[in-house]
Amino acid sequence: MKHKLVDLIAACPKTELHLHLEGSLEPAMVFALAERNGVILPYASVAELQAAYQFNNLQEFLDVYYAGMSVLLHEADFYDLTWAYLQRVHQDGVVHVEVFFDPQAHLERGIPLATQIHGIRRALEQGQAELGISFRLILSFLRHLSEESAFATLAQAEDFFPLIDGFGLDSSEKGHPPEKFARVFARCKELGFKITLHAGEEGPADYVWQALNLLHTDRIDHGNRSLEDPQLIQTLAERQMTLTVCPLSNLKLRVVQQMEQHPLIQMLDSGLKVTINSDDPAYFGGYMMDNYRALIEALPLTSEQLHQLARNAFTGSWLSPEEQQPHLEQIDALFAAFQA
Ligand SMILES: [Zn+2]
Repeated sequence: MKHKLVDLIAACPKTELHLHLEGSLEPAMVFALAERNGVILPYASVAELQAAYQFNNLQEFLDVYYAGMSVLLHEADFYDLTWAYLQRVHQDGVVHVEVFFDPQAHLERGIPLATQIHGIRRALEQGQAELGISFRLILSFLRHLSEESAFATLAQAEDFFPLIDGFGLDSSEKGHPPEKFARVFARCKELGFKITLHAGEEGPADYVWQALNLLHTDRIDHGNRSLEDPQLIQTLAERQMTLTVCPLSNLKLRVVQQMEQHPLIQMLDSGLKVTINSDDPAYFGGYMMDNYRALIEALPLTSEQLHQLARNAFTGSWLSPEEQQPHLEQIDALFAAFQA
């Protein structure tokens, strides 16, 4: 039965709403780019680098994540990174992506914003033309840095506004509540952009409240700890706020100890609008289908629940209702055929 559910979701068009491009940097590419760019790595082999991918929490991961980026120097590197991700998820039936990049992490290393954005966009446009994958690009601010740094980055991004679809907030959550960036995101909204904020991964339910009521976010990334606050669950359900949940990330960063304990079904039963995503697939052990497969194996998910998850990804995306419609019809037809 479970393998039939895996086949069913594999056949569905899928969208990924929570993906950090730098988190799709595979160890083999780290080595290839290091060689191309003459960067000396503190690891002797791909296997040794892979062995370093053991994390006890978010911060331990972030330390490795930022170190891995040192090989991204030129426009071609950002292109190769993005193109490799698109080719990989094309195999998983992904037809739409809304991806993050972390410009401050590269600006700090002296890499101009133009280099980053042009490389990434060239791959995204090629993915749309050759693989049929539509996209939105989200510039994410690093919350461990200051409000001043976020504003400076926003000012630098001005020349590229036509190439950006929204703004996000990521990196070390604890001690860096959304309210620290309330004025930055108010400005982004004034400029007409959508926003999506990491909240409630390691940080408390209060951070999710702030993201909702203070920053008026359009989406919550993760949101797991919302489950600790019944009033918050009710509010998220009433507003049908999309939560981009990342199961393998949750396991690897010990937000859950075992996949069997993942609260996905509890979230669905509470009426939360949950979607499945891979977050940083090169570091967390898998892309979209790996996440679905791990969930289906560990949890007693029904085909109705999977149907809901598949639909949520599109209705929670920033595609227009007209753009969503053909994908939703295809999903509905596949599930109707399955149940017949
Ligand atoms: Zn994330």
